[in-house]
Amino acid sequence: MSAPAPLLSATTLARAFGGVVAVDAVSFSLAAGETLAVIGPNGAGKSTLFALIAGQLRPDRGQVRLEGRDVTRLPPHRRARLGLGRTFQAPRVFGALGLGEGVHLAASLCLPAARARARARMLIARLGLEALTDRPVPALAYGDLRRLDLALALATSPRVLLLDEPVAGMAPAERAQLMTLVRAIAAEENLGVLFTEHDMDVVFGHAGRVLVLDHGRVIADGPPDAVRRDPVVRQRYLGTP
Ligand code: ADP
Ligand code: MG
Repeated sequence: MSAPAPLLSATTLARAFGGVVAVDAVSFSLAAGETLAVIGPNGAGKSTLFALIAGQLRPDRGQVRLEGRDVTRLPPHRRARLGLGRTFQAPRVFGALGLGEGVHLAASLCLPAARARARARMLIARLGLEALTDRPVPALAYGDLRRLDLALALATSPRVLLLDEPVAGMAPAERAQLMTLVRAIAAEENLGVLFTEHDMDVVFGHAGRVLVLDHGRVIADGPPDAVRRDPVVRQRYLGTP
């Protein structure tokens, strides 16, 4: 019997901007229940890789597969319906909508009405946003916006969660708390999580696996301890002690 297809896979993905090769033959796969951090210096290609996976950008070469299905040429909303959850950049998209309406609207994009309501209510409670349900999105404090972003990414009941710097700009204690919550929800729902983050305490404290990009290429992909000890990673990114 053959093994089931991974939740998400990228095969020799490549994308250049003019002369800059932002993502260069990147291959990896993500299984259900895995939390994979994508790290690397500024300009390494992390955001471009996420945009290729979510569908905002098309690759010059290579494929993206969701549960074995080739989605390389599908637009973002079709990928979302097939199980890819990502942040919506809430402040721009939702304008003057209330937080509760926003989460419900996001859930309604992919779920039938009764499930969408229940899902939105559950996520708002889980993320500690109940007191803010009627608050217009533009009036939210920064930390609450990050929580809302996460609620929106989870609203569609995705199989894979893509989080580009989900806890950027938060205080260290808040970061750890939100990442712990992401991991708990991911474990309960058996999701695959792909995230980027600059704070190495967050990366090595919360990722089950770490993939390191440098100039668009994968220079390491493995368990956090092995990646942290990898001489090439230390030299190029973490800094030799
Ligand atoms: P990271 O998220 O790791 O900081 P990015 O994916 O944003 O890296 O950028 C990778 C490289 O691609 C950088 O050299 C960046 O300047 C370039 N790049 C990214 N997006 C664009 C774009 N839309 N147009 C031109 N160059 C881009
Ligand atoms: Mg980036």
